[in-house]
Amino acid sequence: MVVILVWIATNLLVAFATSTLPGFGSDSQTDFNKIDITIKMATVGILGGGISGLSCAYYLKTLGQSKIKYICLLDKSPKFGGWIQTTRFPDGAIFEHGPRTIRVGTKAGFNALELADKLALSSRILPITREHPTAKTNFILSNNQLLPLPRDPSAFFRKVPPFSKSVIRYVFKEIRTKRSNLDDESVYSFAERRIGEEVAKYALDPMCRGVAAGDARELSVRSMLPFLYETEKNYGSIVKGILKGSRISEAQDFMQSSLVQKAYREIWRMWTLKTGLNELIDTLAGTIDERGKADLIFDAKCTNLTFKDGKADILVDNENIKVDHVFSSILLMNLLHW
Ligand SMILES: Cc1cc2nc3c(=O)[nH]c(=O)nc-3n(C[C@H](O)[C@H](O)[C@H](O)COP(=O)(O)OP(=O)(O)OC[C@H]3O[C@@H](n4cnc5c(N)ncnc54)[C@H](O)[C@@H]3O)c2cc1C
Repeated sequence: MVVILVWIATNLLVAFATSTLPGFGSDSQTDFNKIDITIKMATVGILGGGISGLSCAYYLKTLGQSKIKYICLLDKSPKFGGWIQTTRFPDGAIFEHGPRTIRVGTKAGFNALELADKLALSSRILPITREHPTAKTNFILSNNQLLPLPRDPSAFFRKVPPFSKSVIRYVFKEIRTKRSNLDDESVYSFAERRIGEEVAKYALDPMCRGVAAGDARELSVRSMLPFLYETEKNYGSIVKGILKGSRISEAQDFMQSSLVQKAYREIWRMWTLKTGLNELIDTLAGTIDERGKADLIFDAKCTNLTFKDGKADILVDNENIKVDHVFSSILLMNLLHW
């Protein structure tokens, strides 16, 4: 019983503090084979050239020429990648301006790894396994003190600062908390409601700042942490979900990739690339370009989008681009202002 409780506690805290990040974007992925592209030899416009826009272009191209005749990807910035921007220094040092690593344990995480495999990036990957010090220790800065997140089993039964209760008490509260009927709420209120204010304040809020440069009180739990949101909806409790869920169900759709198999076997937590995550962007852009019939255009700010006679009209620098389909990866609130 004690072993089970400690195992649950480890998973709960680690899930909340570190492991729930889906890898880029949410877990509600697009199955490109199921998209209703009825027009044969369709032309497609993609707004935004971050990881979402570029991977959209990549997967659309895999549908083949009979479905997609031409893709035009437009980005307002002078280079692709969106938030993913790496600066490489002559001494070999690498500085990531945005994301530093991609997590593995969820569908989106395994999907990202499968994509890296398809792009022949396997030999470029630097994995962080479960045993790596980076994966083993997480710190919380509180009152100018750097405090390790409790991981040692004995710590689950005593109070470890900055928390005023033992982890096991948070576990019991989480199990007892009823499922919410809310359609969405903030990450902070989700954690506060299910586990307690201190977990929201010391684990979730710093995590949101570190990962999305965002405020847990403003970020939607459904978008930011879909794994937690879905687990509550499906099992009524994160703890029950952790007990019932399995790593294999997250990975199984991607097991044809030898890189995914390796990551699964070796229990990778996250990964990056030898010269930074920009390698992923450069390789994606290069692969899409290489396959032809696509224009990847930077310094191209889209300012309007209208639909008429079954076609979409994208306004870019006073020029209209007419396409059959549009995929947008830019912020919805920006689109709504057009
Ligand atoms: C500081 C920080 C750290 C992060 N760390 C991690 C991490 O370690 N691991 C992780 O998995 N995730 C991390 N994330 C989250 C991750 O960066 C994002 O989920 C991901 O990069 C989003 O990619 P995207 O393509 O959807 O959007 P973006 O990267 O925002 O790309 C959108 C693109 O659209 C373009 N665009 C916008 N408006 C227009 C317009 N009108 N016309 C044309 N183009 C336009 C932009 O120039 C941009 O290139 C982090 C985020 C931040 C901010």
